[in-house]
Amino acid sequence: MRLLLVDDDELDRMAVVRVLQSPKLIKDIVHASTAVSALKLFEESTFDVVLLDYRLPDMECLDVLSKLTNHASKHAAVVILTGIADDEMIERDCIVAGAQDFLLKQELSQRHLTKALVHAQARHALNQQLMETYARLKFLAENDPMTGLSNRYSFEESLRTAILRAQRTESKVGLLFLDIDNFKLINDSLGHDVGDKLLQQVANILQTVIREGDIVCRLGGDEFAILVHDVEVETSIGILAQRIKDSLNNPITLSNTQHFISCSIGISTYPKCAQTAEDMLKHADLAMYHVKQLGRNGFHFFTEGLQERVMNKISLEQQLRSGTLQRQLLQYYQPVIDAKNFNICGAEMLLRWNHPTRGILAPIAFLDDVEELGFLSEIDSASRRSACQQLAAWRSNNIVDQDFCLAINAGEQSLKDESFQTSIKSDLDNAGLTGNCLSIEVTEGVLVSDFDKTSTILNKLKTFGVNVAIDDFGTGYSSMAYLKWLPASILKVDRSFVQNVPDSPPDCRVLKAIITLAKSLDLDVIVEGVETIEQARLCCQYGADMFQGYLFSKPLSPDDFANFVKNHHPELFQASCNI
Ligand code: GH3
Ligand code: MG
Repeated sequence: MRLLLVDDDELDRMAVVRVLQSPKLIKDIVHASTAVSALKLFEESTFDVVLLDYRLPDMECLDVLSKLTNHASKHAAVVILTGIADDEMIERDCIVAGAQDFLLKQELSQRHLTKALVHAQARHALNQQLMETYARLKFLAENDPMTGLSNRYSFEESLRTAILRAQRTESKVGLLFLDIDNFKLINDSLGHDVGDKLLQQVANILQTVIREGDIVCRLGGDEFAILVHDVEVETSIGILAQRIKDSLNNPITLSNTQHFISCSIGISTYPKCAQTAEDMLKHADLAMYHVKQLGRNGFHFFTEGLQERVMNKISLEQQLRSGTLQRQLLQYYQPVIDAKNFNICGAEMLLRWNHPTRGILAPIAFLDDVEELGFLSEIDSASRRSACQQLAAWRSNNIVDQDFCLAINAGEQSLKDESFQTSIKSDLDNAGLTGNCLSIEVTEGVLVSDFDKTSTILNKLKTFGVNVAIDDFGTGYSSMAYLKWLPASILKVDRSFVQNVPDSPPDCRVLKAIITLAKSLDLDVIVEGVETIEQARLCCQYGADMFQGYLFSKPLSPDDFANFVKNHHPELFQASCNI
């Protein structure tokens, strides 16, 4: 046992040495007469026990005790020696401050002192074990074992503390919520082991990118969070987010193989976006979700508007997943009028959402989100099926004749659906219809996004006799070169070309040119958005084949459509247009 004996009274020290020398328990006794020299010796050497006089000339005993027991790397049992008898307060303070025992100088006997030192050392060793176990448990409780980063629990604590501090100092706190893009693909294609290593690498990269004092945590799975203290301006968090994104976009090498990943980051700040740690995390998560929706590999700040949009989208997704929205969809039909005689020659099926609180909604209010969420193909397919059944019912009730053509829209997802053509064929077969009574409307944008593939699909439809119409012509990628090659037989001129006709001569010339061009390519022309008899008259003059628009009717429910057909009087329009 190695002992540091600290006492300013040499006689007292000698007395201790005499008592201890006899059983030769202590091999090595080092003397110190002041607190400062004792602390210096303690720092420089290693001792098993420190025997510390309560009264030292240069420092309070409790301060010395605290420095000894709280030392980062040196550990020794400390026994206090005192000449003051029966002071329980002092004894308790010393024990609370970490001393193992408290001895009266007057009572020092060989047996007594030896026993006290041995017990003190044993108690100290036990204490150390407890401290180490506690530290290990604390680490496990606060850290993610795989990456060594803080875990969610301790991160939330740090975030709460940071917010409290920011409240006092009137500063800002930033939170970045990061999720790796398509991480499941990595697990699925390369295995969980590689996935784990990649997560560890991401943790390392994040730690190198952040400032000292800021905290990175693994929230779980492939989600990480970064706490940024003392944010001066919000743009600095944006710069950090960009730096993180760029760092993770660099290839990550594992076992000599390069892997490419990206991430989506949502950002919230205190006090602008949230007042509590929970809300900061929730709002950053929401902003991250928005980045995923936008196509991933980016970052976005939380805003109130975003919250509303994202919440709406989350609710929309839930309604789509449960099929609630699909059950609330209605099929409306807008008549298509033959320009030769103003008879009803067809209709375009248009979806409406019968929303429980917002009423009947037009597609513009929901279809883009439905498409983004990946449900458009399913909806297109179901509504096509029931529209074919509706047409069959109208036919059998003599509401429409054999030449009546039903137009149905097909989005990009529908065209990508492998079963698109076969499902159209079976919809027709099941309803007892032939292909020529159906027209599939595709926008220019969809057509040209993968021209070869789309052309092949649409050409296949033509073999069933199904008509193909280019919808909203003139609003997108109108390229004359494409127009020549498109597998379409109908061109629908967008309403924007009609709305200023006949008042605006340039608009009249453009409309005329489009119709002439389409006719020269042997396309039938439907002009959409016809609202006045003058517009209809002019379109007739320019050579349009069909019209659609409020002049005739808005989109109607099936029953209203049937009534419209019964009450339609083409002769009224014929007279107005001098036919
Ligand atoms: P997204 O772009 O939408 O985030 O797609 P994603 O594939 O990354 O999906 P998501 O973030 O929802 O799921 C993360 C996946 O991470 C789910 C799980 O299979 C995987 N994962 C979770 N914990 C671990 C882990 O400890 N190790 C490994 N290798 N994979 C994990
Ligand atoms: Mg992910």
